[in-house]
Amino acid sequence: MEIEDIAQRVLAGDRRALARAITLVESARADHRAQATALIDRLARDGREALRIGLSGTPGVGKSTFIEAFGLMLTGLGLKVAVLAVDPSSARSGGSILGDKTRMERLSREARAFIRPSPSQAQMGGVARRSREAILLCEAAGYDVILIETVGVGQSETMVAGMSDLFVLLLAPAGGDELQGVKRGIMEMADLILVNKADGDLKAVAARTQADYAGALRLLRRRPQDPEGYTRAMPVSAIEETGLAAAWAAMTELADWRRAEGHFAANRAEQARAWFEEEVRAGLLADLRRPGPAQEAMARLGAGVQAGEMTAVAAADEMLRLLGRG
Ligand code: GDP
Repeated sequence: MEIEDIAQRVLAGDRRALARAITLVESARADHRAQATALIDRLARDGREALRIGLSGTPGVGKSTFIEAFGLMLTGLGLKVAVLAVDPSSARSGGSILGDKTRMERLSREARAFIRPSPSQAQMGGVARRSREAILLCEAAGYDVILIETVGVGQSETMVAGMSDLFVLLLAPAGGDELQGVKRGIMEMADLILVNKADGDLKAVAARTQADYAGALRLLRRRPQDPEGYTRAMPVSAIEETGLAAAWAAMTELADWRRAEGHFAANRAEQARAWFEEEVRAGLLADLRRPGPAQEAMARLGAGVQAGEMTAVAAADEMLRLLGRG
C-alpha cells in the first residue's frame, strides 16, 4: 500500500490502518524502515496533539485493571483512548509481562479505544523508537489520550517518562517499610502517584500508604514544571472504579497548567531533541556493527586490546581517528 494511502486512513481514524502502520514501524527490515520514516514524516506534519500519559507499576499492582477502568471512564466522556505497552522484557526473552491480547476485554470492545499489545521479539526494532513512533501514529489517528504502560523494571520507567507528558506511578497499599522500596529517582519523576486497591480490607492500608507518600513528596523540592500541590498522591480503586475521576481531574489540571505556563511545549521540544540525539547515537553504533571497514577496524583493535598490545584508550583514540571523528 502506498504511504500516502496509509497516511490518509490513519488520519481518518481507521483502526486497522493504524495497526498496520504500527506493524510497519516495528519492522526491522530496511525497506520497511524507509517507509516508516516517510510515514512518520508525513503524519508528524499534521500537528494533532494527544495527552500522553506514561503509567508504571510493578506486576500485580493492577495496571491492566486500572487502565481498563480508567480507559472506559475516558471513552464514556467521549474521548478516544489508545493504550500502548513498553515492555523491555519482551525484547530480551520474547515473552512479555504486558500486553497480551486477553487483557482489557471490555475496553478493547469500545469503538473509541485502541489497544496495542507489546511486540514480540521478532518484530522488535528498538523499544524506544517503535514506542515513540507508535505514539505519533496514535496521535495522528486522533486519539485524545495515549496511555503508555510499562513495568517498573530497569530503564523502562525513564524511557516512558521521556516520551510522556505526564508520568503516573501506580502503587499498591503497603506498610511503611515498602515506601523505602520506591526509589527516590522514580518518585521525583512521577507527576502523580496513585495508590490502587483502596477498597475492602485494603482501604485503611491504602489511606495510610497514600498519606505516607504525600508526606514523602512534600519533602521533595518543587519542580519548576509543577504548580502548588504537585506531585500529588491519591487513592484509587480500579475494581470499584473509585478515585478515577479525581485522578483524571488532577491530570488535566496539571496538563492545563503546564500548557499555560509553556512547560508542556518545552518538555516536548526537549524530548524531541533527546530523541534526535538517540537516533544519531543508534545510527553510529549500527555503523560499527555493519560489515565493512569500520567493523573490521573494531575487530582488529579490539583483538589488539585483548592481546595486551594496546591500551583500551589508545585503541579507542585510533578507532575514532579512523572514523574521522577523533
Ligand atoms: P498488573 O500486573 O499490574 O497489570 O495487575 P492486574 O491488573 O493484572 O491486577 C493484579 C491483581 O490485582 C488482579 O488479581 C486484580 O484483580 C487485582 N486488582 C487490580 N486492581 C484492584 C483494585 O482496585 N482493588 C483490588 N482489591 N484488587 C485489584
